[in-house]
Amino acid sequence: MHILISGGSVAGLTAAALLGRAGHAVTLVERSTGPRQGGVAVDVRGTALDVARSLGVYEHLIANRVTYEDRFVFVDRNGTPHAVVEPNADVYDSPGDIEISRDRVVGILADAVPDGVTKLHGYWIGDLQDEGSHVTVGIQGPDPRRERFDLVIGADGLHSNVRRLAFGAEERFARHLGLYVGVIRSCSTDLGVSDTTVYNEPGRMVMVRGNGDEQSVILGYRSCLVDYDYRDVDAHRAMLTAAFPGDAGWRFREIRDEIASSPDLYFDAVSQVVMPSWTTGRVALVGDAGYCASFFSGMGTSLAMTGAAALARALHAEATVPQALATYCTAMRPVVDAAHALAGEGAKILFPTTDDDIARRNRRYTLKV
Ligand SMILES: Cc1cc2nc3c(=O)[nH]c(=O)nc-3n(C[C@H](O)[C@H](O)[C@H](O)COP(=O)(O)OP(=O)(O)OC[C@H]3O[C@@H](n4cnc5c(N)ncnc54)[C@H](O)[C@@H]3O)c2cc1C
Repeated sequence: MHILISGGSVAGLTAAALLGRAGHAVTLVERSTGPRQGGVAVDVRGTALDVARSLGVYEHLIANRVTYEDRFVFVDRNGTPHAVVEPNADVYDSPGDIEISRDRVVGILADAVPDGVTKLHGYWIGDLQDEGSHVTVGIQGPDPRRERFDLVIGADGLHSNVRRLAFGAEERFARHLGLYVGVIRSCSTDLGVSDTTVYNEPGRMVMVRGNGDEQSVILGYRSCLVDYDYRDVDAHRAMLTAAFPGDAGWRFREIRDEIASSPDLYFDAVSQVVMPSWTTGRVALVGDAGYCASFFSGMGTSLAMTGAAALARALHAEATVPQALATYCTAMRPVVDAAHALAGEGAKILFPTTDDDIARRNRRYTLKV
């Protein structure tokens, strides 16, 4: 089959690796001109570990894992600790997880893609027409072209272009969870934090993760959905700074400078994508494009790998594309539902809304001395 994949991150690269190895003619278009850098450590867990083994990248993931203690320490504005959560034990209950920087996972998966796959960086889908027996696609970029494919896979993330073209506007499917999040991958100044430390004010969170080598910062705040250009980094810096006024506590004064200067700030709404089906005709969505579980589910990377593998398996097992796409949806539905349910738990712990909620969280996970 001739398959077009839109998006060259976790979902797209896993699909390209598996489908390319299965002998399909795969073209992958990625909008950014190089690997899309940014983000902090992500988790590869559950069935995604089996996908990693089947791709032969499990050992690479292990070799590149980052080691943080399984402990989030919650402090007050003076830095005094009050509570401790052990995420893997308290929330996910999934031993054997691999925590690894997002950039490393993307790099390792990119290396697993066979040479025969055509990778077009700086390209995107301009339009697509599903003609029943094939999909005709206009590919935009430095050298625009129009080609026919047997299947188009949208692996282009939360703001998926393929979803918009084939299924409809983002607002129909993205459910905003009332939060925004910003990530500074590596601080240029030493914040003096060597574990995972979290400071809350009602509706706001500052998390610093240090592992001896570097410190990264995750900032989050509660807000209704606002209209902004999700590609405009200056808008991201302005929104984050406005959300944390000058008197915000703990380390925020230093972190404010990092927001202004970080070269690879990642910022986005915390949303889930909820769809009745992830396929239509000869178009399928994989990963955040189809079923983003949100930043705070801890499941985005694993879902993307698991989903890409489920689609590749279904295409191998079934006689026709429609049968394969139906099998893919059936296989993924319970997996996606379970991952979506986890997001609420993480947000409750990390984003108490009032001072009383902060105190209640701290009592529940009180620091044992
Ligand atoms: C820069 C960045 C940083 C992130 N940081 C974190 C983090 O710190 N923690 C966390 O839990 N999650 C983070 N995420 C989200 C996380 O990567 C995903 O939840 C998860 O890995 C699922 O991956 P995905 O491949 O489905 O989507 P994504 O990783 O979002 O990848 C989508 C890909 O599609 C590309 N793309 C977008 N539009 C188009 C288009 N029109 N045409 C072609 N390609 C397109 C993007 O450039 C990107 O490479 C980040 C995502 C990005 C893009």
